[in-house]
Amino acid sequence: MSAFTDALRSSRGTLRRGKLSTIQVNMGDLCNQRCAHCHVGASPQGNRVMTRRVAEGILALLNRNQGLILDLTGGAPELNPHFEYLLTSARPLVRELIVRSNLTAMLEPGKGHLPGLFERNRIHLICSLPCYTRENVDRQRGEGVFDRSLEALRLLNAQGYGRETDLCLDLVHNPNGAYLPPEPAALEDDYRRELRAQQGIVFNRLLTITNVAIGRFGGSLAGTGEGENYARLLAENFNPETLESLMCRYLVSAGYDGNLYDCDFNQVLGMALTNRWGGALTIGALDVGEMEGREIAFGDHCFSCAAGLGSSCQGALAGRACAGSR
Ligand code: SF4
Ligand code: SF4
Repeated sequence: MSAFTDALRSSRGTLRRGKLSTIQVNMGDLCNQRCAHCHVGASPQGNRVMTRRVAEGILALLNRNQGLILDLTGGAPELNPHFEYLLTSARPLVRELIVRSNLTAMLEPGKGHLPGLFERNRIHLICSLPCYTRENVDRQRGEGVFDRSLEALRLLNAQGYGRETDLCLDLVHNPNGAYLPPEPAALEDDYRRELRAQQGIVFNRLLTITNVAIGRFGGSLAGTGEGENYARLLAENFNPETLESLMCRYLVSAGYDGNLYDCDFNQVLGMALTNRWGGALTIGALDVGEMEGREIAFGDHCFSCAAGLGSSCQGALAGRACAGSR
């Protein structure tokens, strides 16, 4: 049993899945960036790329279960050759379609149509921008990323994002090291003031996310010897108030090959959902109604989601209304 499961048991007993509302799809590890903190280890050399056949399986699932939320991530999902096909085919089947973008992918050659495609399909964009300063962004995400991110944000603002009510543009902050993110409301004010003053950029909300010590970030902590301190920090800040809203209670994460997981982090760790015969549960065999009440595969990495104000793909969990249309 993990220390997280112990903490969970002593605070509230058990915790199982609630009603499934969201299919999060990781389209692969291909990305135009190679960020220092990337938990999926994505890069321009990424070669685990979702095929058309798997994308069709996702569409079949969404067709059988209309009205879910689809959440596309990667890598940079925009670089997958079947991204536009999946996005436009899924749009009529889902009540909300989220794309997690690193912003710079839409400046890559042949991707100039993306802001217009997003606008026409009323896509909810959740975009990484870990700070409002060039220095911090470039240190974490690579030289020149800050300037290119702002260029993409200006294109999105010109398309109506952050200005029109159904063109939601959220930004994501994650710490540049082994510490918890700050209180989101105050940081959001700073982002809003700085981006508007310096660049005239507007956005809807700032989501704060806690780094999980896996993938490239886990490797860097191991290299600097900070891993144990970070694990202790997270465990000491365990907050039972976050548990009810943990994202694994209402979403499933699909890998590039169509296998399913409780979340993106369990996907990186290879903790796959299984079917009744012990094999991998795949997108084609998913029965949405059967997910409610299912056990969740927790481990010590789960302290990242439950520390402080909590963390999820929709930002902090406690002390602030959860985002999205759950
Ligand atoms: S953190 Fe995002 S943008 Fe950076 S390498 Fe990973 S997938 Fe790409
Ligand atoms: S890391 Fe653990 S707590 Fe967080 S979403 Fe995944 S299973 Fe749930």
